Amino acid sequence: MEKILIVGGGYAGFYAAWGLEKKLGRGEADVTLVDPHGYMTYQPFLPEVAAGSIEARHVMVSLRGHLHRTTVIAGQTTSIDHAHRTATVRTTDGAPREIAYDTIVVTAGAVTRTFPVPGIEQEAIGLKHVEEAVAIRDQLLTAFDRAALLPPGVGRRRLLTVTVVGGGFTGVEVFGELLSLATSMLRAYPELSRDDLDFHLVDSNDRILPEVTDEPGRWVVRHLEKRGAHLHLGTQVVSAADGRIMLSTGESYGNGLLIWAAGNGSNPVVARNTDLPVDERGLVRVRADLRVGTSDAPVPHAWAAGDNAAVPDLAAAVPGARAVPNAQHAVRQGKLLAKNLVADLRGKNVQPYLHHSLGTVATLGIGHGIFQYRRLVITGFPAWLMHRGYHVLAVPTWERKIRVLLVWVSAVIFGRDIIPLSTVQRPRAAFLAGGDPFAGSDGEHPAVRPAPHDRPEPHDRPELSVVRDAG
Ligand SMILES: Cc1cc2nc3c(=O)[nH]c(=O)nc-3n(C[C@H](O)[C@H](O)[C@H](O)COP(=O)(O)OP(=O)(O)OC[C@H]3O[C@@H](n4cnc5c(N)ncnc54)[C@H](O)[C@@H]3O)c2cc1C
Repeated sequence: MEKILIVGGGYAGFYAAWGLEKKLGRGEADVTLVDPHGYMTYQPFLPEVAAGSIEARHVMVSLRGHLHRTTVIAGQTTSIDHAHRTATVRTTDGAPREIAYDTIVVTAGAVTRTFPVPGIEQEAIGLKHVEEAVAIRDQLLTAFDRAALLPPGVGRRRLLTVTVVGGGFTGVEVFGELLSLATSMLRAYPELSRDDLDFHLVDSNDRILPEVTDEPGRWVVRHLEKRGAHLHLGTQVVSAADGRIMLSTGESYGNGLLIWAAGNGSNPVVARNTDLPVDERGLVRVRADLRVGTSDAPVPHAWAAGDNAAVPDLAAAVPGARAVPNAQHAVRQGKLLAKNLVADLRGKNVQPYLHHSLGTVATLGIGHGIFQYRRLVITGFPAWLMHRGYHVLAVPTWERKIRVLLVWVSAVIFGRDIIPLSTVQRPRAAFLAGGDPFAGSDGEHPAVRPAPHDRPEPHDRPELSVVRDAG
């Protein structure tokens, strides 16, 4: 039997495996999927998980729960040696294992792109994984509890200062959602006021949301500013050390929560640890039919799709364009990959990947959104409804759709759930300390780094200061 190995069970990998299960005859191939998580993450819902509008588990689709004819291995593929048809996988016990295959499918996605900025390693949280979304939510909710204990001033405001780096979809969506969460939280915290909130979005480009055209992009900037946010465009974060953000403009301010959403970086297994052909951005080179290689030099028995692959975009007007890394493409590529792989196994013709964009839709917080399809732009509440409608239909499996929908409906009736779960990080604390969840060996609140107000912050320094080089 042909042994097919799928590396990565996200959008493209999950849909490829699902498709193979449906299409392969009994005894035709043996499919194994390797992923460090036991689930596929529906990433477009992560901003709403961070804002507490969707339950964390509802954005995860169990691989074992839905793939009944695939062997699922919990592990991280560390290298692919296609010449010898072997992948090395580090499993949960830390042991490296070699997996032999006949055909490989590379769908390991991308990682968050970072830069060597002082402090981000210690301070920043990305937003590609559900753990990150939950930590963001818990950190912001816990900051409200702490801020409510402080008098108005620098320390309080610093706790409630949020900086998002990256004005792409991920950054703008999480920014809008958290702004909406924080504003609505004020109702439950009469000690605090709107002036205590400080939201900053930083992007090195002069505009945000490259996926929409200029005017809708400017509308989003104006919209967020009207809601009290600060947008720093054409600006870089040069330091985030010690809870203080320093911008390339010279401005600096104390910060509580830093979210890093500065785009996609190439997956290390693809960029550095494989003999498959890789382009200058660290993406696997594929042909339009999703076979690895170029039209002149296809690599036998290797396929790739999704964010880790440079897939030719045959629908683009520009020759040589590559499909943008998004879920719209990854899902369709995963499905086509399964179809083509089965056709190839049976000696039949394969099809090229061709998808015309369905447009772009983004949430900017509850009741706010933007949609664009060619020249049609819809903003505000209708766009937000379209965002929810589209994604609830797109999340895989009816079971997940219904669960997400029920939480939204219950929020309309009862309001947003604002309970943090940061104490789950130290479940034994209360048990060991006679019921006090905050007690620990170091006396530090679980899951939350030292409170910004505990750090040195000169009180005579204005909250947003311009620090100029003395020279
Ligand atoms: C916050 C956010 C919001 C988004 N919103 C939208 C949206 O509204 N619309 C849209 O179209 N797109 C959106 N996207 C983009 C979209 O989610 C991605 O383009 C899509 O997930 C890519 O699918 P993929 O299968 O290539 O990668 P992923 O879905 O990231 O899956 C990759 C999988 O590979 C696994 N993996 C990684 N490395 C290894 C390894 N070494 N070995 C084994 N397994 C590995 C990972 O655990 C993961 O399960 C959003 C992304 C984010 C982060």
